Amino acid sequence: MASLLFLAFFVLRCTASLRIPASESTVDVKAFNIANVTTTLPGAILQPVLPGHDTIRLPLHAFLIEHTASKKRFMFDLGMRNDPLNLPPSVASFFQSGVYSVDPFKEITELLEEGGIPLASIDTIIWSHSHFDHIGNMAKWPNKTNLVIGPGTNRSLYPESPDSQLQASDFAGHNITELNFDNTNLTFSGLPAIDYFGDGSFYLLNTPGHELGHITALARVTPSSFIVLGADTCHHPGQLRPRPKFQAAYPCPANLLAQSRTSVSTDYFWSPDSLSGDFDMLSRAQPLLSITDLPTSGEADPVASRVSLDKIAGFDAEEDFFVVLAHDLSLIDVLPYFPASLSSWKGNQIKDKVLWGFVDEKNPAYRFGPSSSQIDS
Ligand SMILES: [Zn+2]
Repeated sequence: MASLLFLAFFVLRCTASLRIPASESTVDVKAFNIANVTTTLPGAILQPVLPGHDTIRLPLHAFLIEHTASKKRFMFDLGMRNDPLNLPPSVASFFQSGVYSVDPFKEITELLEEGGIPLASIDTIIWSHSHFDHIGNMAKWPNKTNLVIGPGTNRSLYPESPDSQLQASDFAGHNITELNFDNTNLTFSGLPAIDYFGDGSFYLLNTPGHELGHITALARVTPSSFIVLGADTCHHPGQLRPRPKFQAAYPCPANLLAQSRTSVSTDYFWSPDSLSGDFDMLSRAQPLLSITDLPTSGEADPVASRVSLDKIAGFDAEEDFFVVLAHDLSLIDVLPYFPASLSSWKGNQIKDKVLWGFVDEKNPAYRFGPSSSQIDS
């Protein structure tokens, strides 16, 4: 009987429908936008690509995490290094040819030190995956900074592996831990989870598809509110939204509902109640954009990517969870960045302010109507 009562108490204390065990332990999350990279290959990351949207700008988010109780600091992703021609040729060639371009910027190492965070105070760096736009310049970090990578991350290096985005300096001197989700009995929204500190403050989630070893994170920033660090589960909020549960929890604001009737092209997007020829966001029950599986896709396994994204979307529809993607352009004018903390997102209603921003024609992420402009701005 006692155990039944305990079980009932435990279930009641879990967070909403996602069954996150209750905990008073938290982390603080501070976000950086390291740089905005423009690519002339938007079709590698999303579909459809409308006329006039032949480029896409991608911010590179990195996160400083501090465990509240122990004051231990770590990073989740680093953005990219600012000398891209020194990356292995598989990436550098894209910068040389102009397929990728980026204005000069300061690397995360410089931003941290300028902000009063010595690199030596960062215990561990977690890579969501090993692409160049997440791994920074590891050579600038002290050897004692630990590195955590996802399961099965391909550690082959250029030049022995000519196509690799990694080189010896990315690993040299660092203690590397490769996560193993095989023995975890935690699953949130269908995603296997590792309780990183063992106190419920920070979980790593197995989200395969984009690249072998791609992981995301669930940060408890107050006892009952969380930030989902979605990494490259998708690259645009239009691949995440709208879905039925999300529509019910967060109805599209009236002004954007009205605007999208004529701004969203019904040649590319349809919805059951678009019968008059105007787009109807209310009856749209699937995301506007999709992860591409065309031969040009940048996804290692597009089918697995879609399943991981469906699972991450389970968080997006819940009021206690705020999903922040590594490359969500709709956030860049709204998100409080370092030195401000993201941890009070719920009290400050930040999620409500940004959720539907991507369907606003004035938002830099808008790309749902044909445009005569060649550059997203
Ligand atoms: Zn990326």
